Amino acid sequence: MFELAKQRLESVFKHIEVDDEVIDRLSIAKRSIIVSIPVRMDNGELRIFTGYRVQYDDTRGPTKGGIRYHPRVNLDEVTSLSFWMTVKCAIAGLPFGGAKGGITVNPKELSKLELERLSRGYIRAFSDVLGEDRDIAAPDVYTNATIMGWMANEFSVLNRQQVPGVITGKPLHLGGSEGRESATGLGALYVLNEYARRHGWDKSCTTIAVQGFGNVGYHFASLAKKQGYRVVAVSDSQGGIYSSSGLNIEDVYRYKQNERKLASVYCDGTVCNLLEFEQVTNDELLELKVDVLVLGALENQITQLNAKEVKAKTILEIANGPVTPQADEILQAQNIAVIPDVLVNSGGVIVSYFEWVQNKAGYYWSKAEVENKLKKNISREANVIFDKALSHDCSMRTAAYIHGIERLAGAIDQKGNRKYFSQN
Ligand code: NAD
Repeated sequence: MFELAKQRLESVFKHIEVDDEVIDRLSIAKRSIIVSIPVRMDNGELRIFTGYRVQYDDTRGPTKGGIRYHPRVNLDEVTSLSFWMTVKCAIAGLPFGGAKGGITVNPKELSKLELERLSRGYIRAFSDVLGEDRDIAAPDVYTNATIMGWMANEFSVLNRQQVPGVITGKPLHLGGSEGRESATGLGALYVLNEYARRHGWDKSCTTIAVQGFGNVGYHFASLAKKQGYRVVAVSDSQGGIYSSSGLNIEDVYRYKQNERKLASVYCDGTVCNLLEFEQVTNDELLELKVDVLVLGALENQITQLNAKEVKAKTILEIANGPVTPQADEILQAQNIAVIPDVLVNSGGVIVSYFEWVQNKAGYYWSKAEVENKLKKNISREANVIFDKALSHDCSMRTAAYIHGIERLAGAIDQKGNRKYFSQN
């Protein structure tokens, strides 16, 4: 996975001149730590879990990155994700470097008390290298605001003082920020709005299919519909629904909340009659003839096996890494524009930065203030990237990486480079 991540970097070096020292600096993580976390289970047994934290690069500021709980978490995955966070924070213009953490665990097998003990154990294991001006953690796959609340509390207990800025994505009443929950979906919508404006799209005629109806997929679909786009299809892990005249996202959300899956929405009975849609499989959703295909579920969804079947004109990547490098080439040959993850899903880390700023200042903003600042930040960076794609005649993904690497290389260079130190 890390080798693939570095391949993306190599395509950038074809477009911009970067000193070899910068390339060397960005090719290896600054610090990678593996720990064992002992947890006393409810049945009295002691289980040892493996935890990771990789601080990839801190040239531009304290490192920042989420903590993932998943049975497949390993050092290669955490390293790749920490590298992407480094690039993403630079693209967003935040004063942060990149990091990532994780525990190899299936959290669904743990009781709530076991989960709390494990989460506090993670912080005890890493408290020496975390800190609000050192390395700031956040939620990722299978971790949430409640877990962040426990972690922030454990860090404060160990440090004998309140340090809310060490963790972002906390619950609102424990120092979280207004607007954090919907920030990634909203940020993605702001990016799409800028793209639509530059291409003169009429929102009411723009059809959208959304893969994934979790946190980011739901918020994106709901906000896009409110702004006038026609969201014609959504899917979750069990299947999807389609309506050519557009879905009522709030109705769909309500039914899904009751039944825990979208399949319940196409059950027989009054709901189906009311909503007038048809069932599509997960594969069919990816192949729908729509203007925009939004990927908001998992990595590696469009691969060399299905890229040729995509009929959307534009892909908006909200998930991390949903299109493989081989699929990128096939999509490019078909003139399908891909608006990349490192830009599109940066709304989450931008509002995490706002949470950190509010924690440090002890002064909290309204939801409208947060959303306004998010809009300004992400729209500015989106337009820089769209312009760079034109001036370098490259994909928006390469343009986004060029933008991030230029900022990182600038910071590394300004600490002094070969040329500076060899002049006497
Ligand atoms: P989530 O767990 O809330 O939702 C994921 C959704 O994807 C669920 O509805 C699940 O049923 C669905 N899904 C899984 N497999 C599917 C398939 N094959 N077809 C269709 N749907 C499928 O997760 P989330 O927080 O919404 O995150 C989604 C993606 O966005 C992840 O890649 C995550 O890394 C990325 N992301 C999230 C945030 C954030 O703030 N939540 C920020 C940046 C990036």
